[in-house]
Amino acid sequence: MSAPFRRIDTQLVHAGEPLPRIAGAVEMPIFQSATYEYAGEGSYHDVRYLRTNNTPSQLALHEKIAALEGAAAALVTASGMAAITTTLLTVLAPGDHLLAQRCLYGGTHDFVTSEFARLGIACDFIDAERRDTWRDRLRPNTRAVYVEAMSNPLLEVPDLEGIAQFARDHRLTALIDNTFATPVNFRPLALGFDLSLHSATKYLNGHSDIVAGAVAGDAATIERIRHTANHLGGSLDPHAAFLLKRGLKTLALRVRFQNESTLKIAQFLEAHPAVARVNYAGLASHPGYERARRLFAGCGGVLSFELEGPPERAEEFAHRVRIPTVAPSLGGVHTLLTRPATTSHAGLARAERERLGISDALLRLSVGIEATEDLLEDLKQALG
Ligand code: PLP
Repeated sequence: MSAPFRRIDTQLVHAGEPLPRIAGAVEMPIFQSATYEYAGEGSYHDVRYLRTNNTPSQLALHEKIAALEGAAAALVTASGMAAITTTLLTVLAPGDHLLAQRCLYGGTHDFVTSEFARLGIACDFIDAERRDTWRDRLRPNTRAVYVEAMSNPLLEVPDLEGIAQFARDHRLTALIDNTFATPVNFRPLALGFDLSLHSATKYLNGHSDIVAGAVAGDAATIERIRHTANHLGGSLDPHAAFLLKRGLKTLALRVRFQNESTLKIAQFLEAHPAVARVNYAGLASHPGYERARRLFAGCGGVLSFELEGPPERAEEFAHRVRIPTVAPSLGGVHTLLTRPATTSHAGLARAERERLGISDALLRLSVGIEATEDLLEDLKQALG
């Protein structure tokens, strides 16, 4: 169905949508039904039921997200963590070993470090920017390598070409969390990654009103992940599916605007005397600048920065801004401000945070779709 929809803007609107239109409805209705009439399905996983991830709202999203990622198939889940945990538990078995990027999203890092051992799965962390160090970490039972398109909150860009090649050379499954880049800015499967994961809570939905997740890849692996998901039960409900599909339609418009707006804000902050450091891969000063220019269509809507002076200044600044809401999460239409040391990375000891470059003074800004000029004026008054 998605063959004529070659460009992402058209895929976002049309891919996966039912044809002929249901009762002529331009927008697909919400299929608020847990179960469907038996039609001779032969296997447990084919029974049409919300938890088995094969109902109309879910199937439309699977086809749309697969088209966006240039994948053969996709699966939506009840949260980003449901997509990540279900995928890792499908790809890895007891006795297997995973190589994972050091600075992962806190929830993923926690899952790997606190649950893997009792499941008999081992994990080593790697510096994903230094390909010369990876081989030493390889074991005969290494099965997969896991990275994020851009790290949170320092926006580091791993050596993504190197990771894809390393996975090919050593027959590993290459997984990437593509939440921060989105398929508008980066399509990892085209570079050689096997599976692309999302917290669809963030940009894909884009309105901070649901939690959802997704994984895209080859049909056989996605079918295996769907079977695991059917057992674990983290399926997406029809109303959230409707909102996610609606949000997706404006993904390209939102992300391109956020790319531009965030770059302007990053440039403004970098030039401001009250700001000590800005992390944004769209800035020439960022170590990932060249790689991001080569691989990404844009650097997304998240940046982080540190103010000059004592860490308390970060707290004062957060009280002074008027447009951003001080809240965790990212990727929505509202601008959100957080201090990673007290939210996403609160689980790490201070020494570990500092080792990773996440100081108590660091602020992370997720730029929404408000007027860039209004945000700049607000940041200017808050910086005093
Ligand atoms: N991956 C990244 C990069 C994230 O930032 C998050 C959440 O913040 C997740 C995964 C987890 O997603 P969710 O909160 O939808 O479970």
